Amino acid sequence: MIIRCQHITKNSQLFIMKYQRSSALFDEAYKYIPGGVNSPVRAFKSVGGVPVFMKSANGAYLTDADDNTYVDYINSWGPAILGHTHPEVLEELKMQAEKGFSFGAPTELETEIAKFITENVPNIDQIRMVSSGTEACMSAIRLARGFTKRDKIVKFEGCYHGHSDSFLIKAGSGAATFGNPNSPGVTEGTAKDTLNARYNDIEQVEDLFRHNEGQIAAVIIEPVAGNMGCVLPENDFLQKLRTLCDKNGALLIFDEVMTGFRLAFGGAQEVYSVKADLVTFGKVIGGGLPVGAFAGRNEIMDHLAPKGAVYQAGTLSGNPLAMRAGLKTLQIIKNDAGFFERLNKTTEILDREIGKILSEKSIPHRINRKGSMMSVFFHIKSVSNFDEAQQANHSLFNNFFHQLLKSGIYLPPSGYETYFISDAIKEKEIDMTLEAVRKFEYS
Ligand SMILES: *Cc1c(COP(=O)(O)O)cnc(C)c1O
Repeated sequence: MIIRCQHITKNSQLFIMKYQRSSALFDEAYKYIPGGVNSPVRAFKSVGGVPVFMKSANGAYLTDADDNTYVDYINSWGPAILGHTHPEVLEELKMQAEKGFSFGAPTELETEIAKFITENVPNIDQIRMVSSGTEACMSAIRLARGFTKRDKIVKFEGCYHGHSDSFLIKAGSGAATFGNPNSPGVTEGTAKDTLNARYNDIEQVEDLFRHNEGQIAAVIIEPVAGNMGCVLPENDFLQKLRTLCDKNGALLIFDEVMTGFRLAFGGAQEVYSVKADLVTFGKVIGGGLPVGAFAGRNEIMDHLAPKGAVYQAGTLSGNPLAMRAGLKTLQIIKNDAGFFERLNKTTEILDREIGKILSEKSIPHRINRKGSMMSVFFHIKSVSNFDEAQQANHSLFNNFFHQLLKSGIYLPPSGYETYFISDAIKEKEIDMTLEAVRKFEYS
């Protein structure tokens, strides 16, 4: 069932040896797990070839089942911001594991992390812990709907807010029309309450508010998008959304699952000086364990059960192991005054130097970057929305991905993803990366 990688056919014998065990593991996984993976992007479907199976990770590096090592630019899709298996986080986890894995009852630790986060993130009074970013976003829109007593939400094409029904909606060609489900299983009834607009296009959002007066509960956005590749808000887009929401009595939800504790400790709210009504978290907040959260002001959060009527719950919510890993990770960042400056500097160097090498090779490209999120688009024009991200040369990206993988650099296996730079990436890893880019053959 394996589709061999088209880019490596030249050297297929070598390829098979290098990834022999990964190939065998994928064949076996394919029998018991749909598509052989537990989350689709891991299957390398977009870049082709066989996914590499990992067995361990430390600092900046991943080791696969065949003992190949890689400099990791995915970092578990964001959580491993300190690099993998940070010794202090590991210590905390061991200590907690001895005390118990899960109680299904409140713990002091949950208050400790809630207090820490609400004190450090602007404009939030209370936070509710869940187990994934999907749950966080799904719960945030339920709360927004319950609070405003309205049904519709506005989202942006190319933004990902997890896989709950309301978010798996693609706009038609006219973005002002009702959404159509883009996964079987999402009902038209659900789809009609999700309105789509183009990222960075404030006029479309104004139109949606005009045509749906008094019906829009919330606008949800990735304040810096990472799920169509890295795409930045332009021309005060976030500020303008804030104003529009205020004018229309709708809530503004920042999905900071990716940007939270990554762009800055206060996330995009801090970086762009825009206040959101609800903020969702995930990824970094769990330090590598399954965690999500959503937060807001008292007047909104008070509507959640058991205090309020909007129901939301979770067997493993606030799980002590997850809380330990999350809190320790956040504390390490907080106590390191130069953390974000250093992380951003590393990313800036990668951006500049990769750009230089691609230019020397006369390969048309655009690199989008904010803080420690960045993406290389093989495109002659700037990329500021999903349509433009789609116009980039994705087959060239796939080629780039495979050549770098062969050189021991692990990029996200899709041209629609952002690279997550970790603090474990230092000069040596930057040099290895640039060397791999220099070897890249553009054919
Ligand atoms: C990853 C992500 C999610 C979903 O989080 P999961 O933990 O995968 O459910 C939601 N929103 C954004 C912006 C994300 O990057």
